[in-house]
Amino acid sequence: MNEFADSSKTPKHPYPDARGRYGDFGGKYVPETLMCALDELEQAYAAACEDDAFQAELRALQINYVGRPTPLYYAKRFTEHLGGAKVYFKREDLAHTGAHKINNALGQALLAKRMGKRRLIAETGAGQHGVATATAAALFGFDCDVYMGTEDIERQKLNVFRMKLLGTNVVPVDSGSKTLKDAINEALRDWVTNVADTHYVLGTVHGPHPFPLICRGFQSVIGREARQQIMEQEGRLPDCLIACVGGGSNAIGLFFEFLREDAIRMIGVEAGGYGIESGQHAARFAGGKLGMLQGAYSYVLQDENGQILGTHSVSAGLDYASVGPEHACLFTSGRVEYTYATDDEALDAFQLISELEGIIPALESAHAIAHACKVVPRMDPGEVVILNMSGRGDKDVHQAARFILSEDLT
Ligand SMILES: *Cc1c(COP(=O)(O)O)cnc(C)c1O
Repeated sequence: MNEFADSSKTPKHPYPDARGRYGDFGGKYVPETLMCALDELEQAYAAACEDDAFQAELRALQINYVGRPTPLYYAKRFTEHLGGAKVYFKREDLAHTGAHKINNALGQALLAKRMGKRRLIAETGAGQHGVATATAAALFGFDCDVYMGTEDIERQKLNVFRMKLLGTNVVPVDSGSKTLKDAINEALRDWVTNVADTHYVLGTVHGPHPFPLICRGFQSVIGREARQQIMEQEGRLPDCLIACVGGGSNAIGLFFEFLREDAIRMIGVEAGGYGIESGQHAARFAGGKLGMLQGAYSYVLQDENGQILGTHSVSAGLDYASVGPEHACLFTSGRVEYTYATDDEALDAFQLISELEGIIPALESAHAIAHACKVVPRMDPGEVVILNMSGRGDKDVHQAARFILSEDLT
């Protein structure tokens, strides 16, 4: 049941290579003191992939704790509304804690247990990855510290309280912009100091190798399930996959299983914020340059001097200056198309799916829906699209009310 188990008859995926690179991207740009820890982690992950007992324990937890497999749901009213291809939603919003992030947090926590660690640390922006890590820490009885910018703590009080309820210590980070990238720096600093007993649960397919590989491994369950489910329901593979892209974990989680199927079109949707011209967005492919951030080489939103630019999105989960290195590789090779949806388009999609399907989507997922509204009507009714519903929107109702009603619910 390792990462490549279902692909055993096809050639092994070429990336990452032995140096942790995806074509020109990725790598491990970290202080010397972390090199050993990354090597140890890489070996432990490779061993866990081959260990049937580990895979069986992970699968049992995915089924009985997370609620996998998540449904593949035919969105009939949305399909009729668009009048093109049939649209299915992969319902990661129905996973425990309300998004795909638990797949990675749970997998890494189990890996940390196997490595004999007693403590987890994590970074969080909006708090979603912090909550997923705090959940996994409670499940296994780990001590847990989550680093969070003070600006984000102020904006995300509910998730801060959730983490505290789950027994996690939320560490305020008051440096720099007091947001996610500063929290990542502090988490890395902690890891350097406490690496003997601590595992750093990185929340997406970014950071130094082997984190993008490990996160992809634990998220690729999404695509494996979706392949089986679409075969059961439609008797054939999909024509197109659509997912939103923050760091890129839910997107690669869906895409990975299908990458070798050349006929399947794949589209990643970034946050267009107020539009590319405004400079206030998180569309790294449309507006970024090549650079190094948080230990990996990829596309980064930066100025002429390499200073990281501020980003903006209505959805906190997509609001980050860089993108996972494998997506940079898939962008330059042309295998995956990357586009963006603006705040307004995402908010419209958020309301549309709530009304048409009785599903309040996460604002992140609403970016993928917004793009589906553009491409699906131009497709043939015989074609099939799978859209990754990365999370549920309960966490976003305050934010949505502020924009849609111009009202503050608190
Ligand atoms: C965090 C998050 C995202 C963005 O992260 P990826 O690593 O790009 O998947 C998307 N959707 C939801 C619901 C999230 O919580």
